[in-house]
Amino acid sequence: MTADVASTVYPPEHARDAQAIEAGRLLFAGACDFVAGAPTADALPEDTLPEVAFAGRSNVGKSSLLNALTGRTTLARVSNTPGRTRQLNFFSLGQRLMLVDLPGYGYAEAPKHEIARWSELMRLYLKGRASLRRTLLLVDARHGLKPIDDPLMTMLDESAVSFQLVLTKSDKLSPKGLAQRLETIATALKSHVAAHPAIHATSAQGGTGIAELRAELAALASASQPC
Ligand code: GDP
Repeated sequence: MTADVASTVYPPEHARDAQAIEAGRLLFAGACDFVAGAPTADALPEDTLPEVAFAGRSNVGKSSLLNALTGRTTLARVSNTPGRTRQLNFFSLGQRLMLVDLPGYGYAEAPKHEIARWSELMRLYLKGRASLRRTLLLVDARHGLKPIDDPLMTMLDESAVSFQLVLTKSDKLSPKGLAQRLETIATALKSHVAAHPAIHATSAQGGTGIAELRAELAALASASQPC
């Protein structure tokens, strides 16, 4: 079967209806406030809201996606401030959902001890956070899943932390190329027990798939019990 390229959610039966899209729009139209930056595990804020973490290798397009989702540049600006790039940054979306921006991995120029420090911080957070509802694993549509993404997926599998693939920069592929990429990734995900079956294809540049991803996150916010 070939992917339905008209849908930005694959398989397309996971696409949300108009009501869910509107709920997503409303959630992301509200306030989005920087709450805390945690350079160490003991600096993590109290978990009072359901959380969704954004992870991916550096340069995957995480800042651009966060900007596109929230319709503002505050998030990426805060997260990219020198000193904040290697910490976990927490943003409250209308006091309903916490967006957690994790440090990008695979940054070749960083010193080894720094990489070890923030890998450990991410591990402690991802394994131990009671309020974490899902981790979005961002993957560049042109490149697909790479060995560099394996340690994170393995850790999430082992910790039973639900994760969901979000392709970035989908505008860089032809519809056919994107359909093939989605199928390849869906097959690879079958061996990951913690992987959510639906993949989102997004473009921060063109806005493709942004409304659908907002709807997915709004559903998580409303389905969650208070922490
Ligand atoms: P980060 O390091 O993961 O935060 O990545 P950035 O958001 O800074 O993006 C890295 C590069 O990819 C930048 O040059 C962006 O302009 C580019 N980029 C990000 N999102 C898109 C997209 O949707 N389409 C295209 N064509 N380029 C993008």
